[in-house]
Amino acid sequence: MKYILVTGGVISGVGKGVISSSFGAILKCCGIEVTSIKIDPYINLDAGTFSPYEHGEVYVLDDGGEVDLDLGNYERFLNVTLHRQNNITTGKIYQQVIDRERHGDYLGKTVQVVPHITDAIQEWVEKVAQKPVSESGKTPEVCIIELGGIIGDIESMAFVEAFRQFQFRVKRENFCVAHVSLVPQPRTTGEHKTKPTQSSVRELRGLGLSPDIIVCRSEKPIGLSVKEKISNFCHVAPQQIISIPDLNSVYEVPVFMENHSMAEYLSDRLHLGITPLPPMRKYMKPWIDLGEKMRHLKYEVTVAIVGKYTRLEDSYTSITKALHHAGNKIGYKVNIKFIEASNLEATMLSENPASYHDAWHNLCVCDCVVVPGGFGKRGVEGKIGTCQWCRANNKPFLGICLGFQAAVVEFARNVLKLEDAHSTEVCPDTKYPVVIDMPEHNTGEMGGTMRLGKRATIFKPSATNSKIRRLYGNKDKIDERHRHRYEVNPDYIEQFEKYGMQFVGVDVDQERMEVLELDNHPYYVAVQYHPEYLSRPMNPSPPFMGLILAAKDRLKSYFARGCKLSPREPQSDYYDSEDELNELTVRQLGICSDHEDSSSAYSSSSISSSKIEL
Ligand code: GLN
Repeated sequence: MKYILVTGGVISGVGKGVISSSFGAILKCCGIEVTSIKIDPYINLDAGTFSPYEHGEVYVLDDGGEVDLDLGNYERFLNVTLHRQNNITTGKIYQQVIDRERHGDYLGKTVQVVPHITDAIQEWVEKVAQKPVSESGKTPEVCIIELGGIIGDIESMAFVEAFRQFQFRVKRENFCVAHVSLVPQPRTTGEHKTKPTQSSVRELRGLGLSPDIIVCRSEKPIGLSVKEKISNFCHVAPQQIISIPDLNSVYEVPVFMENHSMAEYLSDRLHLGITPLPPMRKYMKPWIDLGEKMRHLKYEVTVAIVGKYTRLEDSYTSITKALHHAGNKIGYKVNIKFIEASNLEATMLSENPASYHDAWHNLCVCDCVVVPGGFGKRGVEGKIGTCQWCRANNKPFLGICLGFQAAVVEFARNVLKLEDAHSTEVCPDTKYPVVIDMPEHNTGEMGGTMRLGKRATIFKPSATNSKIRRLYGNKDKIDERHRHRYEVNPDYIEQFEKYGMQFVGVDVDQERMEVLELDNHPYYVAVQYHPEYLSRPMNPSPPFMGLILAAKDRLKSYFARGCKLSPREPQSDYYDSEDELNELTVRQLGICSDHEDSSSAYSSSSISSSKIEL
């Protein structure tokens, strides 16, 4: 097993997760089996009890693990299925060590950070790295380990010490370190400043880890002289100093990194035995194509996300990614308007009329609407109002989890005329509880008790005309990931269906409603599960595909062609032949097939340095 440890310097939030994933994406393109581990040095056992405002969305895995959103990056970039153990927290390590101590495993010894915690970390990493993560079931060859936060954080000290020991345990040819650091460019001088990077590398070295690669994050590309300076002060060859400026899209990062011959370097450093590589445009083709396509999307679609946590866009990372995946595939640049659900509520009209009208204006001008998941009372009426407006105005709509439950409540109130119908999550005493709690998932404990992870949805045999079923390729059964504690009350299903709200998908026991769809609407679909977690850049999630197609009035023709995009649709407008595409790709990315100095790539005018979404 080969390990690449990715550490951070100066500040967090500069895209360490995407950069770590990109190392993996490059190696995958060379035929290497890759897995990854994300370390979050907080005490929480997992991300399950976090508000989205803490660290962004809680990402859910197949096995029900509630983990950091960076694991979503790994799954999307590497097309793998990770396990809950791939996310290590201080809490998990301590819990294991304390359990062992209670069990008497330490034979009367004093249990200490060194060696007991550091040993536990190393054992965990070695064990989890072996777990297959791809469909092939093969044991991974390379494990990328991302250490959250930055070097110098008190919380991560035990992990840094564990890896200091680990490098000797697994030997030099099996372990390397990439340090991701910010290189600021203060406006006053306009120069790139290397001092913060120098300090953080010094700190890392002081703790016993020497970086093999330094990835410099900056708004604009850094020049050769800056690289040389970092090289001199940080004891890393200039070729191993990589500049990643702000890019159009995160999916351009692997190609940018490979411009620095990363595969060749890692193969050499870690003895990976990657045979001589063909020109980069061949093995990196999927990523080059994706970046190219995204830069040339001619048409646009505007999507409203009516959420409760819109102050922090990371709260909806997987949803925005899933929308972009679908948009890219169909040929549309996706513009997202985040609308705070509570601003749509009637009370806002008197409290803050400007925000109220602004929110409704934004909703009205969008081509389609997503009402995503969430917890608690705040903003629920705004979500319900959105459902009503989309239903009555034929606006393409996708409800997810709480969005699904809001659609049910709205329909009960306004179509079934069940006055003040509600979910018991918001109104425990409602006269018409159309959404109720699942007793086995409402234990009073908050962490890890929801209905979580991958579960099957069966499409009802009667649902032959269902749009959503057709989008899923007319399958009888699909698997998607879940995270909820409440469900639709089965006592009301007959009434709902009589009035046109069809529950076309149910769980295997046919007790839990999973998918609803409205008759006589261009696209009104809501799902109890979270389809966004399984969306992949090259394989978008079907409910999101349907939403974008419907927003542009292309869904009918898509179905008429047997769920195929038309060759005349925007997606294939851009290039006529593969050769032409390759030509353009090589020229516009400034890619040099034999790994010349990659600085040419940065001067390429086609790479805009607009705001990155790293
Ligand atoms: N709060 C709702 C429930 O627990 C919805 C959860 C969600 O949107 N993830 O069922």
